[in-house]
Amino acid sequence: MSEERSLNFLEEIVEEDIAAGKNSGRVLTRFPPEPNGYLHIGHAKSICLNFGLALKYGGKTNLRFDDTNPAKEEVEYVDSIKEDVKWLGFEWANELYASDYFDQLYAFAVAMIKKGLAYVDDSSAEEISVQKGTPTIPGKANQYRSRSVDENLALFADMKAGKYPDGAKVLRAKVDLAAPNMHLRDPLMYRIKHTEHHRTGATWCIYPMYDFAHGQSDAIEEITHSICTLEFIPHRDLYNWFIEKLDIFPSKQYEFARLNLNYTVMSKRKLLQLVEDGHVESWDDPRMPTISGLRRRGYTPASIIDFCERIGVAKRENMIDVSLLEFCIREDLNKTAWRRMAVLDPIKMVITSYPESETETMFSENNPEVEGGEGGRDIPFSRELWIEREDFMEEPSKKFFRLGVGLSVRLKSAYIVTCNSFTKDADGNVTEIQCTHLPESKSGTDTSGLHVKGTIHWVSVPHAKTAEVRLYDRLFRVEDPSNEDGDFKEYLNPNSLQILPNAYIEADLAKAIPGKGYQFIRKGYFTLDKHSTADKLVFNRTVTLKDGWVKK
Ligand code: ATP
Ligand code: MG
Repeated sequence: MSEERSLNFLEEIVEEDIAAGKNSGRVLTRFPPEPNGYLHIGHAKSICLNFGLALKYGGKTNLRFDDTNPAKEEVEYVDSIKEDVKWLGFEWANELYASDYFDQLYAFAVAMIKKGLAYVDDSSAEEISVQKGTPTIPGKANQYRSRSVDENLALFADMKAGKYPDGAKVLRAKVDLAAPNMHLRDPLMYRIKHTEHHRTGATWCIYPMYDFAHGQSDAIEEITHSICTLEFIPHRDLYNWFIEKLDIFPSKQYEFARLNLNYTVMSKRKLLQLVEDGHVESWDDPRMPTISGLRRRGYTPASIIDFCERIGVAKRENMIDVSLLEFCIREDLNKTAWRRMAVLDPIKMVITSYPESETETMFSENNPEVEGGEGGRDIPFSRELWIEREDFMEEPSKKFFRLGVGLSVRLKSAYIVTCNSFTKDADGNVTEIQCTHLPESKSGTDTSGLHVKGTIHWVSVPHAKTAEVRLYDRLFRVEDPSNEDGDFKEYLNPNSLQILPNAYIEADLAKAIPGKGYQFIRKGYFTLDKHSTADKLVFNRTVTLKDGWVKK
């Protein structure tokens, strides 16, 4: 994160407000997730923005669950949201629920009725929609609009008391049926819904609409800067209208462009479909753009925060290339990941010149990127090694600087070896290659004077542990699956998960620490999967070492 970058437009607004002495210089933001799914990287952007603004200007941030829609919300989601925000490293000032304001919101609605600014309407949703007109044709008032205050008060109380079935009546604000902004044409404030709520149980059978809950919750908490995404611009006039008419704390709404990332989908509704239809294992499947999926994949909070900082705050929608996110995690893991050796697609190498019973230990630093290497570990070396199948060619091309008959390479942290022969099975598959080593070429004490172009990784056969390694590719084949014809799920990448059940890893990796990143030399950055056990080690590839992705 660079300190010199210019202010984003939200920081400019906050600085102007502070300079003008608004709210006595106080800054209070909120992050308001609806608990109807797990958080995704788009939410991370919003979290970084809300918490980041408060941190920068000495303010605070509330975590407010926007739980006004009883049918879709679950406690599991509340818990996951809290875990994800904490994991990103942010601390909220207060944990709040819009549902805690149901009594207050009801009182606000009654106050609006008393002011003659709200009425109970018996029309159906279809009738209301027709009566509203179109952007070019003004709406028409119906007979309910002129109900008396007393009648409205009585009917609204009956709605609350459960006298009517779902959809029989709604409470509407009396704003302006001819307003150019359709959101002002007598918007709904309350609807009847006989559904239990995850926090308030069966207490309520009427629930406030977003527009009569969000701004009011902001005002109740005295939020100074209420930041949301661009699709709420048309709601802003109504946000202000309710606050003005109720004469409550004047929170202000500001909009920024939501984060869109290519090769994935970001709406919780779509992510839920992927989970429910079994296209992914769970919300935290490492291919998911969820914060929990990224965590399980091996992303770090620092890399996600860096990503959110780099993309900045835009006022216009755009599509961010997922390779920027991958760049950020590579940058971070290059500095922090410990280096280890693992052979993903093994073939056996026998060093015929090396004594059969001998084992040596080679030393290698954990992290050559830092002074002192963060210590190191002993790597056992013996006559039989696993090497990567792709590091051998039966008929090597001119530019192949690895193994083939007559070619030499350095075994990382060990000796230079030369390939002399190889063995094939009945199907013509190479099963073993035979080499000889140069004893004086040992890393660290090399006196051979020889220079070889290639260095390859290896794992000693008798010392190796096995592990399942999972390699991931983009979840979708196309950049913007939501924008293609037909169902977005038709564009899933059938090869987004490749499981290698039998990789050989350095024995030291059996002690891998959950949540820590490891560089498997030449193969990428990996982390233990959350389902990994001592009996069955499972590693997820977080990202490759280089951006090798080609558009198919
Ligand atoms: P989705 O459409 O993915 O279900 P949502 O907007 O309905 O998301 P909420 O739980 O209502 O999800 O969002 C909580 C906060 O996160 C809101 O302030 C919302 O504007 C913000 N947010 C959601 N998606 C993004 C995104 N892609 N980029 C930036 N902010 C986002
Ligand atoms: Mg929403």
